[in-house]
Amino acid sequence: MSTVWRPYCQMQTAPLPTSIVAAEGVEIVTDHGQRLIDGLASWWSVCHGYQHPHLVEAIRRQAGQLSHVMFGGITHEPAETLAERLAELLPGDLNHVFFSDSGSVAVEVAMKMAIGFHRRQGQPERRRFLAFHHAYHGDTTGAMSLCDPDRSMHASYGDAILPQLHSPVPSDTASIERFDRLLEQQAGQLAAVVLEPLIQGAGGMRFHAPEDVARIKSACEQHGVLLIADEIATGFYRTGKRFAIDGCGTPEEPLVPDIICLGKALTGGMTTQAATVARSHVFEAFLSEKASDAFMHGPTFMANPIACAAANASLDVFDQEERSEDAKRIHDAFVSRLPEARSWPGVVDVRTRGAVGVIEVRQLPDSETMRKLAMQHDVWLRPFGNCIYSTPPLVIEDPQLHQVCDAMLAIAKYRSPKM
Ligand SMILES: *Cc1c(COP(=O)(O)O)cnc(C)c1O
Repeated sequence: MSTVWRPYCQMQTAPLPTSIVAAEGVEIVTDHGQRLIDGLASWWSVCHGYQHPHLVEAIRRQAGQLSHVMFGGITHEPAETLAERLAELLPGDLNHVFFSDSGSVAVEVAMKMAIGFHRRQGQPERRRFLAFHHAYHGDTTGAMSLCDPDRSMHASYGDAILPQLHSPVPSDTASIERFDRLLEQQAGQLAAVVLEPLIQGAGGMRFHAPEDVARIKSACEQHGVLLIADEIATGFYRTGKRFAIDGCGTPEEPLVPDIICLGKALTGGMTTQAATVARSHVFEAFLSEKASDAFMHGPTFMANPIACAAANASLDVFDQEERSEDAKRIHDAFVSRLPEARSWPGVVDVRTRGAVGVIEVRQLPDSETMRKLAMQHDVWLRPFGNCIYSTPPLVIEDPQLHQVCDAMLAIAKYRSPKM
């Protein structure tokens, strides 16, 4: 029996996990010495590849000087610098950075900011959230309530989950009309609309158009509902732009959500760290003479100096290396290779957006078969739901990318006798 309780895993029947002993570049190395190209960048995070020397050195230096200190009543240079740099990179007045230790917590923080904002504006009844079908916003109970109720873990928790509203992403005449009506009817009880802009990740790997994001933003404005952009997966060039929202406005009129959540690639995938960044009107709603108006939240390891140093080093690398070009290159490779599968039996859809490639099938083979098929190509993939997908490290080179495509196509082509 296993002592470690593993994620999303039926411990009674699951095969033993693959044991990894090292990683370098875009490869992870098993305890048998097999080098696997990581087609997932460790869940969208390792954007510059593993053990990037600049990031390793930054962590080493920071660990030798100040590895951790509480953030209550204390500050430090790595956090101050990182906050300044994020505020500089984000559009508009997204200038107030609240650090936390994981993406789910960053979403919880955003939800509490939105509820707190309306309470301080004298509208405490605005405390529910509207999220979208196929949404994924994290595993903690608040964040979980935002996930698609039919395609997430909702079913296994029943009534324990906060009731929220869910809508299709408004993208055609009928769904736009329905969304507008829903928002108009429910605005009085809504604190915020929460959206993964352009690419919905773990809730189904679905894409929507920049116009859809702009439409949601203006509907929110019209009804005094905040917009929370969850860019934990899309941030840092996964969509091709630095942030997905950068692709939804114009240079003259950027699209600026009220709150944005960042995580995953924030530290270049070196360690855990997330951030919730608010616009000035949200931040200022919490300012008063009363201590009780303060924002009441503070994770033990928030703004950990090693994590902040890693994030700062990752931002250095983004300045020096062309990650938006990399995303384009990855996109082109997916576009040239994956559509071949469209006509295959059992394949429902092939889609690509930015540095994300997806083959949706009617039914996936069992997970052990998929792992074996990928590993025969020296590739690491872990399909979920009905999706074979890849979100590779942005530094992946073309031959490696083709190897990932080969593995994805092999899984899509596989027909077991039972299927
Ligand atoms: C991964 C993810 C989260 C949760 O982040 P964790 O660090 O796993 O808690 C939230 N939202 C989105 C869009 C994500 O992709």
